[in-house]
Amino acid sequence: MKIHEYQAKNLLKNFGVPVQDGVAITSIEEYDDAVNSLLNRGINQYVVKSQIHAGGRGKGIVYSKDNKHEIVVEGGVKFIGKDVQKGKDYASKLLGNILVTHQTGDEGKEVQTLFITEGLDYKKELYLGILLDRTVSKNVIMASTEGGVEIEKVAEETPEKIIKVWVDPAVGLLSYQARELGFGLGLEGTAFKEFVKFITLLYKAYEVTDASLLEINPMVITNDDKVIALDAKVTLDDNAFYRHKEYPGLKDENEEDKLELEAAKYNLNYIKLDGNVGCMVNGAGLAMGTMDLIKLAGGSPANFLDVGGTATPETVENGFKIILSDKHVKAILINIFGGIVRCDRVALGVIQAAKNIDIPVPVVVRLQGTNAVEAKKILDDSGLNLIAATTLEDAAAKVNESLSSVE
Ligand code: GDP
Ligand code: MG
Repeated sequence: MKIHEYQAKNLLKNFGVPVQDGVAITSIEEYDDAVNSLLNRGINQYVVKSQIHAGGRGKGIVYSKDNKHEIVVEGGVKFIGKDVQKGKDYASKLLGNILVTHQTGDEGKEVQTLFITEGLDYKKELYLGILLDRTVSKNVIMASTEGGVEIEKVAEETPEKIIKVWVDPAVGLLSYQARELGFGLGLEGTAFKEFVKFITLLYKAYEVTDASLLEINPMVITNDDKVIALDAKVTLDDNAFYRHKEYPGLKDENEEDKLELEAAKYNLNYIKLDGNVGCMVNGAGLAMGTMDLIKLAGGSPANFLDVGGTATPETVENGFKIILSDKHVKAILINIFGGIVRCDRVALGVIQAAKNIDIPVPVVVRLQGTNAVEAKKILDDSGLNLIAATTLEDAAAKVNESLSSVE
C-alpha cells in the first residue's frame, strides 16, 4: 500500500530520520493556521506540496478539474520562501484540481491534500532508495549523486552513477556498508558522519515498518552539512498489517482505483490495467497465463480478474459489471476451468448477466472441465452472440480478431 509523503515523513520522524516539519491541510481555510503553527515553531520559509500517490510532482502540470485543457499552474510543488500570500494563492490553485506528472498518466490525480512544510536551503541533492531485491532475497540500498532526477533515467543513461549495497535481512545493515555508501556519494567530514547516521536510521525504519520500498529523492545536504529527507516515498507491505494495526488507517481511498474498490465489495480480485481486452478468469495463475497469451497474440489486457474457485452466476454478473465499467474495454474473454466450479453454472451466469446488463462488446468464451459439454449447450441454446473457443491460444486469437472487427 502506498502512502502520502506527509504520512511517510511522520513515520520516518518516529525513527529519528531528519525530515522537514510540516502540516497537512485539505482546504484553503486551514492554510493560515498551518503557516502560523509553523511560524510558532520558528519556521519562516515554506514549500507547498501536492499530496498524490505519484512522483514527478515538481515538474507536473495542474489542470482545471472542470476543463481538462486549461492549465491552472505549472508545478505541483513550489518553494515559496517567506511570501505567505503567494503560497496561499498557489495552494488555492492546487486544491481540487488535477495534477498530471510523468507517473500519473494523462488523466492525472486530483489534489485533495497539501503539505505545507519548512523550506530548506541546501547545497546538494542526492538519491537514496531501499527495496527488496527478490532475485537474491536481500534488501538493496541504492544511492546516487544524481538526486532530484528520475532514477529510471539515471539507471538507463548513466548506470555507473548508482551505487548498490545488498543487506542480508537476517544480519541488518553493517556499519562498513553505511560508510561504503557515504564514500560512494563523495561525502566528507560532518556530512559523511550525518549520512551514516541517516542511512542507519532509515534502514531501521524500512525494517521495522515492513516497507517494501522506501525512496528519498532527494535527500539533501544543507549548507551546514545536515542530511535531511526532502521527499519520501514509502510503500508498506499489506501482508504485514497484522503487526501494524494503525497502518490500514493511512489508506487514502481517493487514491485507489474506483473500480478496484467496487470489485473488492463483490469479493472479486480485480486489478485494472490499461489495455482493451477485459478478462474474466478463475484462479490467479490461469488469469496471469491468460493475460500473457492475449499479449502474445498481439492484444492488451484491460484487467486482471480472478472470479475465484467458486464462481456463481452472481459472481459472473458482477464481474461483467466491473469489466464493462472500464470504458477502454472493447472485447471480453471469459476463460474458466471447471475444477471446483461447474462450467454449466458459469454459463448460466453469463446468460443472467446478459439479461440484466447491456454487453455492447464481443465476448469470447472458453469453458473447459466439469460439465463443459452442458455449458456449451446452454450457451448455444441461449441465442446470445458469443464466440466459442476451445484452446487457450484459440481464445486469445479470437478475442484479438474480434477487436479488429469493432475498430
Ligand atoms: P517530486 O517532484 O514529486 O519528486 O517532489 P519533491 O518533494 O522531490 O520536490 C520537487 C522539487 O521541489 C525538489 O527536487 C526541489 O527541487 C524542490 N523543493 C522541494 N522542497 C524544497 C525545499 O525545501 N527547498 C528548496 N530549495 N527546494 C525544494
Ligand atoms: Mg522527489
